Amino acid sequence: QEVETQTMSLIVQKFGGTSVADVEKIQAAARKAIRAQRAGHRVVMVVSAMGKNTDALLGLAAEISDQPPAREMDMLLSTGEQVSVALVAMAIDALGSKAVSLTGGQIGMKTDNSFSRARIQSISTERIERLLDQGHIVVAAGFQGTDDDLNITTLGRGGSDTTAVALAAVLGADSCEIYTDVDGVYTTDPRRLPEARRVEVISYDEMLELASLGAGVMHNRSIEFAKKFGVPIHVRSSFSDTSGTMIVAEPESTSQPVSGAAMTADEARVTVLGVPDVPGKSYQVFSAIAERKVAVDMVVQNVGKAGRADISFTVPRGELTATLQAVESVMDEVGADGLTHDDQVSKVSVVGMNMASQTNVAARMFRALADASVNIQMITTSEIKISTLVARSDATLALRAVHDAFSLHQKPSDAKTWSQIKAERGERADVDALVSRLRNDALEALTLTGISVTDHQARITLHGVPDYPGIAADMFETIGAAGIFVDMIVQGYDGEDAATSVSFTVDADAVAKSLEVARAIYKQHQMRDVQGTGDIAKVTVSGIGLRSHTNVATKLFHELAESDINVEMINTSELQVNAVIDAKFASTAAERLKVAFAPALH
Ligand code: ADP
Ligand code: ASP
Ligand code: MG
Repeated sequence: QEVETQTMSLIVQKFGGTSVADVEKIQAAARKAIRAQRAGHRVVMVVSAMGKNTDALLGLAAEISDQPPAREMDMLLSTGEQVSVALVAMAIDALGSKAVSLTGGQIGMKTDNSFSRARIQSISTERIERLLDQGHIVVAAGFQGTDDDLNITTLGRGGSDTTAVALAAVLGADSCEIYTDVDGVYTTDPRRLPEARRVEVISYDEMLELASLGAGVMHNRSIEFAKKFGVPIHVRSSFSDTSGTMIVAEPESTSQPVSGAAMTADEARVTVLGVPDVPGKSYQVFSAIAERKVAVDMVVQNVGKAGRADISFTVPRGELTATLQAVESVMDEVGADGLTHDDQVSKVSVVGMNMASQTNVAARMFRALADASVNIQMITTSEIKISTLVARSDATLALRAVHDAFSLHQKPSDAKTWSQIKAERGERADVDALVSRLRNDALEALTLTGISVTDHQARITLHGVPDYPGIAADMFETIGAAGIFVDMIVQGYDGEDAATSVSFTVDADAVAKSLEVARAIYKQHQMRDVQGTGDIAKVTVSGIGLRSHTNVATKLFHELAESDINVEMINTSELQVNAVIDAKFASTAAERLKVAFAPALH
């Protein structure tokens, strides 16, 4: 008997808000868990608050105070999950099986003390395992934990996914099933674009980027856990028994350049004008924002006139006020000329594992937007994503245009099923999992996998690029047609001239040709200036969840500023932070970063 329980497989089943919205749904969820248990599995359920209960609690708080204390907010929001776990456990009991509900504190979910966005530090599994051994279904509250002082904390909206995958990771579960109101992961939110296609398989890297760029189906931090520990996630409908989407190490296709598109409707752009172009200024701006734990995206510096630069970036619209306060508090210290913002913008992005090895992917995206008459206000790229900032009124049109342009509604001809991928894996279990190297007291700590330098790079910058639809498409089609492979692209924002600057990096061997092409473009569109810099290098910090750990880019700015190194371009993704610097500082920079990030390097 003992031995048998030891070898029984363990399943984590997570039920989102709509999946436990009323009594019937709670009973249906209970039956799913009981069925799994009768099939011979040990079952841990993770449950969200019923329906829109979390929103209702937020609304109540807003009626009492504009700025409710963060600690009390978490105390309040955690009650939603406490209600649903108790009801689910009662439902299981009423159906004749054994269940015990547990709060975050009771499952030993230890977090840091950043209320409303707490990170998991450790989870103790003894109590869960004891209850499972006794034949119970364990019903754990999602989204919540406790800090060192036993204050109740929450993980951030959508955080029950992270509870579920973290539990699956530490319990060594055989599978983690996410039951929700869609039957899997789609090429984009099917509520926005009905033509979106359900994918059978998506890779951790792609899902991590998509989740962080607006695909609300999974909490992005849950994918960090899945990738670190090699947990396969099955996203499926709670209202049917059909199988859904597997989130695993491998992508669905090894040829299609783009596998998903996402949109963050409520984004805001902030521009700090006239920042003295000397090392350390970006650090001052971004450290002030990072202190408030706001995740900054789409950072672009336009080298402007008279040794001054404009720094633009985007933040979630809800964080705009906090961001502006943070920047205002350092304006004097920075010595900047002014601050502008726009809260009527959205971010539209495409993501794909295979784009790094293909030319013209960016040009195809820009052409699709141009054909839809959508003006691109900003552009940033990194190895597996391209993001554009557009007016909010254009956002859905833009999303549809790029979804169409990459034929995302069609299954790629080389698409693999999960069973094919599994068969090809053979005995190679735990693909890419870092688990053996991670400590149980720092589960969600920053995890870096490497720091490297790519030298022999060049940067081309076009100034005074007119701000109307089609320019980016023309430019990058022309560059692509000349056979030039472009790595990073950034397009900034320049309120003053209604014109922007565009920079891109190429291999140093391509600098002469790139300049020639850039000069032709410059003449054709009457731009202000073209510059080429041959001696630059790219310093890359690689890891997992780099954008959600808001301090990585800040720390990079800090370390480089301390060594008096100017950052010329930067891009950030969940997987990499890249900084373009003068090539002569490349090895100094890499050494310094290796030391500074040593505790997080695995
Ligand atoms: P739950 O309450 O179960 O956690 P969520 O509302 O958090 O459910 O997530 C499911 C929703 O995510 C879907 O209803 C869908 O509208 C949205 N969504 C956004 N992007 C995607 C995508 N790429 N694929 C599937 N669903 C998506
Ligand atoms: N109830 C929380 C929320 O609505 C957590 C979750 O559902 O994942 O955000
Ligand atoms: Mg959710």
